[in-house]
Amino acid sequence: MDSETLSTEPTPRETHRFQAEVSQVLHLVIHSLYSNREVFLRELVSNASDAIDKLRFRALTEASLQTVTETPAVRLVPNEDARTLSIEDDGIGMTHDELVENLGTIAHSGSKKFVEMLKQRGEAKDLSLIGQFGVGFYSAWLVADRVEVVSRAAGHDDAWRFVSDARESFTLEPAERAHHGTTVILHLRDDQSEYTDRYRLRELVRKYSDFVSHPIKLAKAADEAQEGDAFEVVNEASALWQRARGEVTAEQHDEFYKHLTGEFEGPLAHTHFKVEGSQEFAGVIYLPRTAPHDFDTPGEKRRGVRLYVKRVFIMDDCDALVPTWLRFVRGVLDSDDLPLNVSRETLQDSATVRAIKKGVTKKVLDLLDDLAKTRADDYTTFFATFGRVLKEGLHADWEHRDRLARLMRYESTRGDGLVSLADYVAKMPEGQKAIYYAIGESRAAVADSPHLEACKKHGYEVLFMTDLIDTWAVESLREFEGKKFVSVQNAELSLDESPEAKATKEAQKTAFVGLFDRVKAVLGARVKDVRTTDRLTDSPACLVLAPGSITPQVERVMRAHGKEVPPVQRILEVNPTHPLIEALQARADAGDPAVSEYVEVLYDQALLTEGTPPDDPQKFARRITALLQAAVTK
Ligand code: ADP
Repeated sequence: MDSETLSTEPTPRETHRFQAEVSQVLHLVIHSLYSNREVFLRELVSNASDAIDKLRFRALTEASLQTVTETPAVRLVPNEDARTLSIEDDGIGMTHDELVENLGTIAHSGSKKFVEMLKQRGEAKDLSLIGQFGVGFYSAWLVADRVEVVSRAAGHDDAWRFVSDARESFTLEPAERAHHGTTVILHLRDDQSEYTDRYRLRELVRKYSDFVSHPIKLAKAADEAQEGDAFEVVNEASALWQRARGEVTAEQHDEFYKHLTGEFEGPLAHTHFKVEGSQEFAGVIYLPRTAPHDFDTPGEKRRGVRLYVKRVFIMDDCDALVPTWLRFVRGVLDSDDLPLNVSRETLQDSATVRAIKKGVTKKVLDLLDDLAKTRADDYTTFFATFGRVLKEGLHADWEHRDRLARLMRYESTRGDGLVSLADYVAKMPEGQKAIYYAIGESRAAVADSPHLEACKKHGYEVLFMTDLIDTWAVESLREFEGKKFVSVQNAELSLDESPEAKATKEAQKTAFVGLFDRVKAVLGARVKDVRTTDRLTDSPACLVLAPGSITPQVERVMRAHGKEVPPVQRILEVNPTHPLIEALQARADAGDPAVSEYVEVLYDQALLTEGTPPDDPQKFARRITALLQAAVTK
C-alpha cells in the first residue's frame, strides 16, 4: 500500500490509498446496493459486538487486557443537528496498523469475484452476497458520505482516527479516546437523516440485533437524559440460543443467521437445542440455502460453527465440533463443560468435544430427516448443493451409514428428478434382485451409455452416480434393504441367469473364436479379455471392469493429480447379435487384413462411450476418415 506523510507537525496526518478492490467495492456499495440501506446498522453493530467478544476472549489469558467495565456495551449516539450517528463499542479496538489493514484492504480473496459478479449483474439491487465477502464495514457508505473511525486498541495508550469520503484514499491521524474500543462516526447523506431518529434506531435494533448478547444502548435525547442514565438499553441482550425454543421466532432466526454468517438471506432450516445430562450444551445449527462462493476453497476464512463456553465467545469456525461431512452447517454451540482457555489443539483430543460432536451430528441428521419428510422440495435443493459433502459420511462414518443412506438422492434413468433409495427399492419390478447404478462424470455422460442397455431391456431403473465421491461412497453402502448395489459397468453383471441364457453363451464362445483371436492379437495388453455379452442391445461393444479394478474416472483423477497408475485392463465385451459383429466374424474367418483396423475403431469407440479419450485421437480420426471415404466413394 502507498502511504505518504503530508506533514509531521503539529498533527501528522497520513494519507493512504485504498487497495484497488476496496475502491471497487465502495463504488458498488454506493452505486448499486442501495435498496436496503438500513442493514448498515446490523453490520456495524455486529462488528462492535465481535470486537467485545474478541477482547473478552483475549482477556482470559492476558491479565493486562482487562475490560474497562463489567458489562461492555455497544452505544448508539445520534446527533440530529450535526446529522451524524456514532456506533461506539468497548471492544478490542484497532492499532494504527490494524486500521490500515482491516479497513483499507480486503483480506478475502473472494472480493474480486464479488466485484466481478456484481458487475456482471449490472444494476445489482440485491445485497445477498455482500456480507459473505467480508465487506460489512463498507456498508457504512450506504448511508454516509464520510466515515470517521476513532479506535484505541486494548493494551495501547494511543488512539487513531481514520477518515474517508470513500474516494481513492483515507487519512489517519492521532486522536484521543478515553479507553479501548472503537467509535464509528457516520456523517449521514442529506437524504439519510432518518438514522438520527431514535424511534427508527430502536426499531432497527429490535429487528436486526435483538439477540446480540451485549447491551446495545441508545443515547437519550437531551431532555430525557436529565432524569438519570444518559442511555437506555434497546435490545434483549441475551444470547438467542439460550432462550426457550418457543420464544424465538423464525424472523429472529433469520436475523441471527445473517448476523453470524454475513449473508443477506435467511437459512434453509434450523435446529435449536439444549442438551442436558453428562454433557451440557446448547446451540443452534443452520443449513444454508446456497453454498458460499468460497465453500471448500482451501485457505479461505470460513464461517462455520462458532464455539462459546458458558456464554463467552471462544472461536469462529470450530471445525472440531462437527464431522467434516457436515462442514456446510453454520451456527453456534455453547458448552458448559469445556474450559474457557480451550484451544484448537486441546479440542482435538477432548472427550467432551467427542461427546458434543456426537450430539450435534444426531441433531443435524434429525434436522435433515425432518426436512426430507416435510419439505421434500427444499431437501432436494439442499441435496443438489451439499449432497456430495454428505456422501463423504457414507465412507467416513460407519456409525451413521444407515441413516445417511436414507438421506441419499440420485438422478436415474426414470426421469429428471432425484430419487431416494427407499423410492428406488419400492418401485423395483418383480424379478429385479439388485440396485443398479452407473458411474460417470455427468448425467449426460452416462445416460446413453451402452452399459445401460440390458437394464433398459428388463425395465430396471439405473441410478446415476456422477460425483467423484460416489465411487467410494457406493462401496461403503454395499446394500440397502437387503438389496446389493451392482454397477452396470461391472464385468459380473448378469441379469439373465436362466439355463437357456447360459447355453447360448457357451455356444457363442466357439462361434466367435476366429474374431476373438484377431481382437486379442490387435489389442494385446490393452484388454484383459474379450467375450460376448447379453448386456448390449443396440451397441456393438463396450468395456467393463474386472472385479476389484478402479473405475476410469478414478484413474483419470489420479493421473491428473500426478499419481502413477498402471493402465487398468478392462474386458471388451461384444454384442453377438449385432450385425456389425456378425459381419466382422465372417471377415475374420475369411482372413481380411482390414479387420485389424475395424477392431481398433471398435475399441476406441468403446473407450469414448465410457468417457475415456482414445489413446491416439489422431489415428482414431484418420481411421474414421478412411471408413467414411470408403463408404461415400463406394
Ligand atoms: P468482517 O467483519 O467480515 O471481517 P468488515 O469489513 O466488517 O469484515 O471488517 C473488517 C475487519 O475490521 C474486521 O474483521 C475487524 O478485524 C475489523 N473491525 C471492524 N469493525 C471493528 C470494530 N468495531 N472493532 C474492532 N475491529 C473492527
